[in-house]
Amino acid sequence: MITEPVRETTEQPAIWDRRTAGAYAIAVCGIAAGLGARAWLAPRLGSEALFLLFAPVVLLAVSEGGAAPGLTAAGLGIVGVLVIRSQAGWDIDPLALGLFVVLSIGLGAMGRRMRAKRARLTIDDSQLREREAHLQSILDTVPDAMLVVDSNGEVQSLSSTAERLFGWPSLDLVGQNICVLMPDPDRTAHDSYMTHYMNTGERRIIGIGRVVAGRRRDGSTFPMHLTVGEMRVGDRRFFTGFVRDLTEREQTEARLRELQSEIAHLSRLTAMGEMASALAHELNQPLSAIANYLRGSQRLLERDDPADRPRLSEALGKAAGQAIRAGDVIQRLRQFVGRGETEKRLENLPGLIEEASTLALVGANELGIRVSKTFDPACETALVDRVQIQQVVINLLRNAVDAMRTSPHRSLGIRVAPGPDRFIVVSISDTGSGIGELTLPRLFDPFMTTKKDGMGVGLSICRTIIEAHGGTIGAENNLTGGATFTFTLPNVSEGTTRV
Ligand code: ADP
Repeated sequence: MITEPVRETTEQPAIWDRRTAGAYAIAVCGIAAGLGARAWLAPRLGSEALFLLFAPVVLLAVSEGGAAPGLTAAGLGIVGVLVIRSQAGWDIDPLALGLFVVLSIGLGAMGRRMRAKRARLTIDDSQLREREAHLQSILDTVPDAMLVVDSNGEVQSLSSTAERLFGWPSLDLVGQNICVLMPDPDRTAHDSYMTHYMNTGERRIIGIGRVVAGRRRDGSTFPMHLTVGEMRVGDRRFFTGFVRDLTEREQTEARLRELQSEIAHLSRLTAMGEMASALAHELNQPLSAIANYLRGSQRLLERDDPADRPRLSEALGKAAGQAIRAGDVIQRLRQFVGRGETEKRLENLPGLIEEASTLALVGANELGIRVSKTFDPACETALVDRVQIQQVVINLLRNAVDAMRTSPHRSLGIRVAPGPDRFIVVSISDTGSGIGELTLPRLFDPFMTTKKDGMGVGLSICRTIIEAHGGTIGAENNLTGGATFTFTLPNVSEGTTRV
């Protein structure tokens, strides 16, 4: 496409040559015709107006070929008149000759300027066409959809990709308001957006870029990233929109999220499977207590002594308490292993961690693990997916318990404190074996495990979850032995909300 104008520019001298040759032909033929006509009119005109017929020939030669063909015509005309004069024996009026010469020189000078002007116009015109062809070639080949609109929102031009993306052929869309490519509420409000920008200069999308919804000709909508640039041509303003279709990206991301949530779910099931015996034990305790309380109550009932009533009531109350405790464990377990929707809500972080640790630390007492918890009141609320963050906490706590199995001193610390940049820092430290030097750099890689029957996916899932929450996760060995795992979450507690 862009080779076409180049060919035109190189053809320019050929056009010039043809015109000049034509002008010389006009000069020669015109003067010859003028001489013929003058000879034919000689009986009527006599020696009057000898140069009159040559003036139009000079003018024509000048306008076609500039000064040189014009002056050639003038020269030929004078020679012709001199020949006629010698044959007819007429006198030449010196004033008429002088006027003709001056007129010819004047026309020649004018012709020069006219020619220069015409040459400039021809170049401007070819440059204009060249630029137009260049712009069209960009619009035809640019991979992103591109649209140009004027300050009234009227579409001026669009790229082929934009035609395909919106399903509007250029011919039908040019001249229409750009709002036809938007679903409501933007569709109805777009004109007011433009007016607002024209009046205030306040940029909401121009030069910033934003994800918005686009509308195809068939009425279907799709997500797109829109960047708008502004340009001025004279006193007119134009806006160029660059559109990237996000449909495929969103679909891939949604599929990825689905897969990640599936893996996380499987990992929770595995974790609970591994903890099955500890959980059975945890449930067994309240169940045996309930059985004991009920047996005792039965005996009191059999004695049928009114004095036993307070003891009976107390035993039944305790049995109910234990039943609630067992129910709680089952309830948490059910929530935790459930598939659940991955949705972020404002959650009470200490409560969420307490719950997770109840599940993760079943059996910790028997191992003689001392647990300490510190919750800073400034870190009450976080915008999180409850089950997913519990999964992280449970995974870190289970790893800490595993690492301390052979340690002489077993102490586990859970700490929630404010961190820099309005983040909450959750750290879980243990007095276990510590992380091996070779393991440390690959700790969060999938399938990295040092355990005989480990899967090595827990920490990599933890990292995916935390990063999806906008936080980071890391680990280091403690100076006094053991390891500390730390993750951060954006803090949305009162007074710390991000703007
Ligand atoms: P798995 O527990 O199945 O091995 P993880 O991804 O949860 O998978 O852990 C990966 C590895 O990280 C573990 O095998 C262990 O070597 C190391 N690790 C994790 N937590 C600790 C910890 N608290 N102390 C020492 N090493 C740890």
